Amino acid sequence: MTTTVTAAPTRTRRLSGFQPTGRLHLGNLLGALRPLIAAQGAAESIALIADLHAMTVEHHPAAVRAFALEQATVMLAAGVDPQRTPIVLQSQVREHTELHYLLECVATHGEAARMIQFKEKSAAGGQVRLSLLTYPVLMAADILLYDAAQVPVGEDQNQHLELARTLAVRFNTKYGATFTVPEGVRPDSAARIMDLADPSAKMGKSNGSGAGRIGLLDPPEVIRRTIARAATDTVGVVRRDRERQPGVTNLIGILTEITGREPSDRTSYAALKREVNDAVQDLLAPIRARHAELSANPDLVRGVLAAGAEKVRPIAAATVGRARAAIGLLD
Ligand code: ATP
Ligand code: MG
Repeated sequence: MTTTVTAAPTRTRRLSGFQPTGRLHLGNLLGALRPLIAAQGAAESIALIADLHAMTVEHHPAAVRAFALEQATVMLAAGVDPQRTPIVLQSQVREHTELHYLLECVATHGEAARMIQFKEKSAAGGQVRLSLLTYPVLMAADILLYDAAQVPVGEDQNQHLELARTLAVRFNTKYGATFTVPEGVRPDSAARIMDLADPSAKMGKSNGSGAGRIGLLDPPEVIRRTIARAATDTVGVVRRDRERQPGVTNLIGILTEITGREPSDRTSYAALKREVNDAVQDLLAPIRARHAELSANPDLVRGVLAAGAEKVRPIAAATVGRARAAIGLLD
């Protein structure tokens, strides 16, 4: 008896998105970039710099451009291998916006308006861009465009992935099999790095004053000071207790995430901070040095982006082609 393997090839394409809303920080590295780099051998990943998303709130054109280029440079410096993991600038693959529109034709206003990020960001009042309302649909397009079977999602992105799945299923049901329905995966090390000054908030590019954020390109002295000033507590024991000791818990988390090691001294916050500082400095020094080399040659980085777009465009064009035909557009 012979066994024939008929299973469809398992697709393990993974998509990781970064918005050029600011400079990349330690949370982006430990929570997203390192897992992406670690998976490079096993999964076919795409690193997406989502510049269109950065325009859903008030933005400075020059800043979005500069952050996009800097993020691509930092990705290379951190070890993203563009041969295996194309680095793609969203706006350079026009299929993102084309699929966005087609998906808007199966999404409802209610679905978009329910999105937590829209509610939060629009609650502040003032002028709310229409693109802020529809951006989860653009994100659904980002995901569905590349037939990604797995999308690494942090908790803050669950709702967006659910929308992508809902729209994919709805489109497939109404108009015929078109999209791969993506599955959300927690990156192996689902590190969630909190703000060092306010450990109740996650470290973010655009939140807070910046006092609790460790930028990947920050000078050593700035990093040392940020860690030295990190919020702790009056308990006086180095242990994990997210409720009562969120700052200390975050520092321990950063240390173990980087070194795989537990703190050596259980009594001194100063010693913990020194250990964390040593680990962070060792981690970031080579990235900073490589970034300095690469940023002397912006054309090289632009070339990487152009090559990334070229590499993924056929996949994107095929998906949009299927969607156009299914939904009723002429060739
Ligand atoms: P913004 O404040 O503009 O939303 P951000 O810092 O949240 O910026 P994103 O571009 O939204 O960064 O996310 C890029 C990737 O980094 C995502 O995979 C996201 O889950 C991850 N990420 C962001 N912040 C953290 C954090 N503090 N800890 C771990 N992972 C994070
Ligand atoms: Mg974010």
